[in-house]
Amino acid sequence: MQRLVLASNNAKKLKELAELLAPLDITLIPQSGLGVGEAEEPHGTFVENALEKARHAARLTGLPALADDSGICVDAFGGAPGVQSARFAGEPKSDARNNEKLIADLAGHENRRAHYYCVLVFLRAADDPQPIIAEGEWHGEILAAPRGEGGFGYDPYFLVPDLGLSAAEISSEEKHRRSHRGQAMTRLVERLNERPEIRR
Ligand code: IMP
Repeated sequence: MQRLVLASNNAKKLKELAELLAPLDITLIPQSGLGVGEAEEPHGTFVENALEKARHAARLTGLPALADDSGICVDAFGGAPGVQSARFAGEPKSDARNNEKLIADLAGHENRRAHYYCVLVFLRAADDPQPIIAEGEWHGEILAAPRGEGGFGYDPYFLVPDLGLSAAEISSEEKHRRSHRGQAMTRLVERLNERPEIRR
């Protein structure tokens, strides 16, 4: 495979995806570099939104596409914000306001368990009938106060219980080994390797 369009405009997510894909012989092109704007994400499930994003990028560029749809699901909120994670506190998207709302809404709740979820969708073309879909989950707890400077989004508030550190306090390599996105990427690469017509 030569060139792959990454169907996201989230710079921090793009950086993580590029690092995760670095071992493969692929030239990654962020969709913004090809004049592709953000796709609609109208669906109630991560996988539908990821398919929507991948199709949008593949249709507009004529290239194979990779999309990531991800978010955080909080037990005490019945899984919210889920697919709404990027816009939990409304428009315009803001990590700072999302985190403020998360902590305010969680005040008084004893159960602070949460997990990140990521689904990756790879399409050879917009009309690919056989997308590759790979998922990952990362379980932890929501901290009352932020810790660390790394990562993005909800990471300063996401405690990795067995390390006693937030996702923003660990190295990017450690995050890749453990995270929802890292696990999904490992599975995606396995699936790609099972498809000789794709990996040559
Ligand atoms: P999407 O671009 O619609 O998939 O939105 C994903 C949102 O989920 C991001 O804007 C973050 O708020 C959150 N999110 C997903 N993955 C991570 C992560 O690895 N760390 C922190 N927040 C994340």
